[in-house]
Amino acid sequence: MKKIAVFPGSFDPFTNGHTDIVLRSLEVFEEVVVAVLGNSQKQALFSVEERKVMIAEIFKDQPRVKVDSFTGLLVDYCAKVGASNIVRGLRATSDFDYEAQMALMNQKLANNIDTFFLMAREQNSYISSTLVKQVAPLGGDVSMLVSQVVVDKFKVKLGK
Ligand code: ADP
Repeated sequence: MKKIAVFPGSFDPFTNGHTDIVLRSLEVFEEVVVAVLGNSQKQALFSVEERKVMIAEIFKDQPRVKVDSFTGLLVDYCAKVGASNIVRGLRATSDFDYEAQMALMNQKLANNIDTFFLMAREQNSYISSTLVKQVAPLGGDVSMLVSQVVVDKFKVKLGK
């Protein structure tokens, strides 16, 4: 059976930190489904569809990466796509509490689905979607934080 992992997140927008997590998880899993969370509590800048299009463009040369969106329980979505693992990235210790709580909750909901953590690379550990969304509208250069497709989409969105 194919070993499939789901990498879920808001990805508003997808950053170089996220890209690195996907590429590294491809060394462990045969297929990685990047799943954009549709029912996020967070106010989004980019629509789910816009985010999916950008992510698909980033991985257009990676046939083992699929892009999708989901609403509802993550473990239900994992079961639907046949994934045995959830992939998450950990930056500073500040990510840990929230991630541990979610991983334990998901373990309670479905003990056959395990969370797989990858430590962010040092050079990416300060990158967050929030930071990108703060800097880009003020005219700051975010091209070292996100892919060109995201830079271009920002220009359209901000009319710059
Ligand atoms: P969420 O709203 O689910 O936290 P995010 O898009 O912020 O969605 O993050 C998705 C996942 O990617 C999380 O596991 C997060 O810790 C991880 N992540 C975010 N930024 C980075 C980064 N710079 N390097 C590695 N992992 C990251």
